[in-house]
Amino acid sequence: MEKQGIRLILERKEIVAVKGDGGRVKSVVIGNGGTEKEILADVVVIARGMNPNVALAQEAGVEIGTTRGIVTDSAMHVKKGRGYLNNVYSLGDCTEVVDGITYRSRLSQLASTAVVQAKVVADNIFSDISGQPGAYSACEPCLSPVAADIGGLLVGSVGVTSEAASRAGIKIISGKATKSTKARYFQ
Ligand SMILES: Cc1cc2nc3c(=O)[nH]c(=O)nc-3n(C[C@H](O)[C@H](O)[C@H](O)COP(=O)(O)OP(=O)(O)OC[C@H]3O[C@@H](n4cnc5c(N)ncnc54)[C@H](O)[C@@H]3O)c2cc1C
Repeated sequence: MEKQGIRLILERKEIVAVKGDGGRVKSVVIGNGGTEKEILADVVVIARGMNPNVALAQEAGVEIGTTRGIVTDSAMHVKKGRGYLNNVYSLGDCTEVVDGITYRSRLSQLASTAVVQAKVVADNIFSDISGQPGAYSACEPCLSPVAADIGGLLVGSVGVTSEAASRAGIKIISGKATKSTKARYFQ
């Protein structure tokens, strides 16, 4: 990105103000121990993560997990008390998943995960209304695949970060490989 003339200012948490003009960002003011510095900017990215808003679920007595996401079974039924409610489902960013590497609860917060869960929920609503609850679909543990194009550099990831693997007691082995980012039949 720097090669493309983009100046990156990272790891600065002490933003005092974002100034603009008619809806367009013009500058950011950064405070640093009493001194303030105004930096001209075209774009300001505030990336502070996402927390599910589970207030409604909490009010309804639905179980919230250690990740602060809504707890479900693999059929996406929400948990209330000791059991799972047959016809109440949760999916998407506010819902905990089982991680496919650590088998621990995590938040996936990806559209690709939400789509898989939505298909399971749709199948199961159909089973509910057709009176065939034995035909329930289930979500597999989740691998959270991500792919992005960062200024022409293609990056992808699947599974957990090194930090999450370490927390789960998984030994990390790092390697390096060069591969094409296109499927063979595209070349
Ligand atoms: C900038 C950005 C880029 C992203 N890029 C990707 C990507 O490249 N690939 C990927 O897989 N995922 C991506 N995601 C994540 C993806 O957008 C989410 O995982 C996905 O939208 C989650 O779907 P959801 O239905 O759980 O929530 P949402 O899509 O947020 O839908 C929730 C809906 O509920 C509505 N709502 C909220 N409260 C209430 C209420 N009280 N009553 C009624 N309605 C309410 C909201 O208005 C909203 O329409 C990105 C997210 C962001 C923010």
